Amino acid sequence: MNLFGVQLDLFGAQPQPENPKEEVKETHLDSTGVVRFKYNPLLKKSIRCKAGFLFGHPEVQLPAYMKGPEFAEARELAAEWAEHAIRRKTAKNKAVIKDLVSRFWTLVDQILVDNGESPISSKGRVPPICPQGKYHNLDKVLEAINETYFENKLTCRITWSNRVGGLSFHSIRKDPITGEDFHLISISKGYDAANCPLYAIAGVVYHECLHIVIPPVESNGRRIVHGCNFRKQEKLYIYFEEWTKWHKEVLPRNIRCLRKHKPI
Ligand SMILES: [Zn+2]
Repeated sequence: MNLFGVQLDLFGAQPQPENPKEEVKETHLDSTGVVRFKYNPLLKKSIRCKAGFLFGHPEVQLPAYMKGPEFAEARELAAEWAEHAIRRKTAKNKAVIKDLVSRFWTLVDQILVDNGESPISSKGRVPPICPQGKYHNLDKVLEAINETYFENKLTCRITWSNRVGGLSFHSIRKDPITGEDFHLISISKGYDAANCPLYAIAGVVYHECLHIVIPPVESNGRRIVHGCNFRKQEKLYIYFEEWTKWHKEVLPRNIRCLRKHKPI
């Protein structure tokens, strides 16, 4: 007995074909030439695969907007994902699949944002890296700080923060393409303002860079983030006094405006 089928009949719903063939426009192959990509305009937030296209290698269906050359690296991740997804679901394989899926969507969001489009927002996913703000470009500030204070030795990346709280912080992220960890500095949006001088942004960027160079230490069960050495190094910044004054006096006002969705 097929209860589900009866229910569908009751509501007059017709079962939809899973991969409507007429919607599939073009096909591509991955760099190894064994995984085939098809593009489906009906897909937006999902990808699909099936086994057995060529010598057991899969065919992957991608949303049509992933056709362009800028998505080449994302397609390679999708191909890798499909090669695992068609295999037996061992615990190890499941973990690899989960990792590849999350790297794939992180990269897709990053590509969309780099192209000036909105990311496919989804809960729990890391926000894309956006160094270009409304008023200030953080890449330029980081470049100057790295050259002036760190002999260009820092390999971190930088973004405007997505948090509303207004704090700047530093975290470890995984590169979706290589799977390797990197340091990411996130700067409070309270600094992306017309009333924010460059010396203030450079100050907070220098402070966050120092956290990478001087990691927190444990002492008698306490975690010391801004130790003596940190505070000493921090003062080497040429506009240290000016920055801390701006940080204490103007930043809280800017953050209050942001919370009330007022322009700053
Ligand atoms: Zn700090």
